Amino acid sequence: MSLRVTRASLAPLQARLGALAPVEVLAWVHATFGARAAILSSMQRAGSALCHLADRAGLPFDVLFVDTGVLHAETRATRDALARTHPRLRVVTLEPARSFADQTRDEGVLYLSKDGQERCCELRKSEPLGAVRGRYDALVGTLRRDEGGARASVSVLDLDPAMNALRVHPFHAQTARDLDLYLAANADVVVNPLHAMGFPSIGCFPCTTPVRPDEPERAGRWRHLAGVTYCGINPTDRGSAGEPFVELDASLAPLLG
Ligand code: SF4
Repeated sequence: MSLRVTRASLAPLQARLGALAPVEVLAWVHATFGARAAILSSMQRAGSALCHLADRAGLPFDVLFVDTGVLHAETRATRDALARTHPRLRVVTLEPARSFADQTRDEGVLYLSKDGQERCCELRKSEPLGAVRGRYDALVGTLRRDEGGARASVSVLDLDPAMNALRVHPFHAQTARDLDLYLAANADVVVNPLHAMGFPSIGCFPCTTPVRPDEPERAGRWRHLAGVTYCGINPTDRGSAGEPFVELDASLAPLLG
């Protein structure tokens, strides 16, 4: 038996969870979904803070990390350090089917055009994540309203029809300043060293540049492609047509009401 979950059906739970602190939201996710929940992290500082919060609260989660094959060495080193120092978490690295070199040989240098970037992000980010569709009912991310743009109205719970899972955003109401304060108070959060090298937002090296102090945080993402802001791995960034839904096990009904 399956349970059809819509945004409307989640509204009462949304209101309850929306009032909780991030660590309380993480505790609810773990109590509700257990091993069928995972944190998604690209090894930026917000993801590291989320992992630290879960680990130090004694909440064992899988941490899904998509290695596109064209990440900075510092990002992979951050993944390795996080796995070493967060004993309750299990870091799971997801990879594309083809190497970047093989993809380029077969399809050309995709990231230089807008259509090509969409295909490249689909092949190297969305497809590796899609390979674990069905393994998780809830994916926990780091989106915050104060990031603006498509994220300005993000709520604590959303739906991911492509993954047939809930998306959970414990930091939805947090600010950049809240994040700064958490990092300042917890020196053992594993922070990607690229942040201190002029990269407030970090992605694949062909599509990420440093950012000047007078620019928005994400100005260095796809700087060579006017109008591209997100890769699409987060449904919030894509927007949704119609009334999205996911189908979860009916045994979850009492917990999601
Ligand atoms: S960010 Fe650039 S290199 Fe990375 S997957 Fe997307 S288009 Fe390809």
